[in-house]
Amino acid sequence: MTVLLFAGAAHAAKAPKRSIKKIAGNLYRFQNNFHFSVFLVTPGGIIVTDPINKGTAKWLKGELAKRFNKPVKYLIYSHDHQDHSSGGEVFADTATVIAHENAKADIVGEKRPTAVPDLTFSDKMTVELGGQKVELTYVGLGHSDNMIVMNFPAERTLFACDFIAVKSVGYKKFSAAYFPDWINAIKKVERMDFDTLATCHGKMGTKADVRDQRIFYLDLYAAVLKEARAGKSLDEMKASIKLAKYKDWGRYKPFLPLNIEGMYNQIKMHRRATFRRGN
Ligand SMILES: [Zn+2]
Repeated sequence: MTVLLFAGAAHAAKAPKRSIKKIAGNLYRFQNNFHFSVFLVTPGGIIVTDPINKGTAKWLKGELAKRFNKPVKYLIYSHDHQDHSSGGEVFADTATVIAHENAKADIVGEKRPTAVPDLTFSDKMTVELGGQKVELTYVGLGHSDNMIVMNFPAERTLFACDFIAVKSVGYKKFSAAYFPDWINAIKKVERMDFDTLATCHGKMGTKADVRDQRIFYLDLYAAVLKEARAGKSLDEMKASIKLAKYKDWGRYKPFLPLNIEGMYNQIKMHRRATFRRGN
């Protein structure tokens, strides 16, 4: 019986949850399980952002051909991380691949399973296709050293990945993160002109969610710094820091203690404590 159950479980690989939904105008959001990305359909072809992985990219390529019968002319990576950038080679036959210059270095250096960018930039870049455009902006250090956001002005929609979520605390311990730079990266987005926020995980949101997210990271940073300055240990911080105003946010229970640990590691790395004479 046990053997049968085990064999059954081994074969029960679930089909990924995939969908395509219109955001506004010719801009759409596509999904593969917990990952999301967007594409813009223009008379001159299609602009796709993060391909997510090879299976998703192949599925999307088929759907785009069926629904719109236009080639993908540009593929743009938000940042180098593998769970968003993988599978770019699927579009490389027709698309010019674009990313931040640091993303290219990391994609090559870390051997990400994707197409190496053909075109890179350092600060800003505008991509125009079929009379429509997307504005790319480097947001500086934060969730990585190569994150860009993509603003679709005609659709009043901004695509931002991983460093901003909607009504949700951060992901685990912020591996590869830079703090407090991350807070400045969010601030940069708040100064941009858009109404709708399209994220790469979880819910869609509005510009107000961007500000709320910055205040969360600011509150977390301030709370951990204060406890560190009071000489508290990580375990003491995990017990005492509650940030109760976020208790209804997504992932609060499982991830807030991990967020505290991630922030503690960041602050420990960058803070020089004052030692008493004689220590
Ligand atoms: Zn990432």
